[in-house]
Order: sequence, then structure tokens, then C-alpha cells
Amino acid sequence: MNKREERFIVDAMLGNIVTWLRILGYDTIYWNGDDGGLIEKALKEDRIILTMDRELALNAIRNGLETFYILKNDSPEVLAELAERYGIELHFDPNMTRCPVCNAPLKFMNDKPREEWMCPNCGKRYWKGSHWKNIVKTIKDAEEKLIKLRGSI
Ligand SMILES: [Zn+2]
Repeated sequence: MNKREERFIVDAMLGNIVTWLRILGYDTIYWNGDDGGLIEKALKEDRIILTMDRELALNAIRNGLETFYILKNDSPEVLAELAERYGIELHFDPNMTRCPVCNAPLKFMNDKPREEWMCPNCGKRYWKGSHWKNIVKTIKDAEEKLIKLRGSI
């Protein structure tokens, strides 16, 4: 079983990608500060940098950091590229999911009538509601794009 070992740090332009990586179970920091701080944190915590900022990407690469420079902020496409490049799992497992808001691993609540998860950090609750279909759809789109990516090599 994949343990979701890759960790990421993502620049402020890519908030949607942060949410998706957390939903898929990856420890992901959303960075709002300066470039130097981002590079320092990536170095210290061994995180892969995702950015749309060319200058930041070049700077990070010069510092020997694993960096993925994103040209187009399209969630399924970026997820497919991350799967191809880093082997991230395009598989939604609610028991692996991290809180999309604060990145803490969710806790399954086994005392509820419906399947429900709670974030032990911010207290937000999650269940299979109307957003569920969107999650499944985006992940399916990403899988299809990955197949196309692999087919074109
Ligand atoms: Zn939370």
C-alpha cells in the first residue's frame, strides 16, 4: 500500500492543487510568505516545490531542490503530471485524507450513524455529501489524462 510519503510545498497561486493533494492524502503546505522562506522550509522538511513562479522555480533548482514548475493551473492535468513524475496515487481513500483546510490527517468517527470524518486540528467535519461526485470526477479526469500522458511517450 502506498503510504503517501511525498510531501509538498505549494506557492500561493495554486490553492486548488493544495486542496487536491490533501484530499489524496499528501502532506502539503500552502505557502503565502516570501520565496526565501519557502526554499528554507522545503530544504528543512524535504518537500517537493510546486510553483507557477518561474523565478522561484529557477532559484529552487539552483538550491538543489526538487521543483515542479507548473505552466497551467488545471487540477486534473497537474495531478496527472504529479502522478507521472512522482508516482502520487490518483486514488481517493477517505482514511488517508488530510483536512483540505489545515492539512491535519482526518479521524474517522465510528460513533456516527453515517460515515463521518473529523479534523482533530480545526474541528471541521466531512462526509460523503454532494461534493463527493466532484471529487470522484476530478480524480477520474486526472486518471484519464495520465493514460494520455503515458500514451504519448
Ligand atoms: Zn482541519
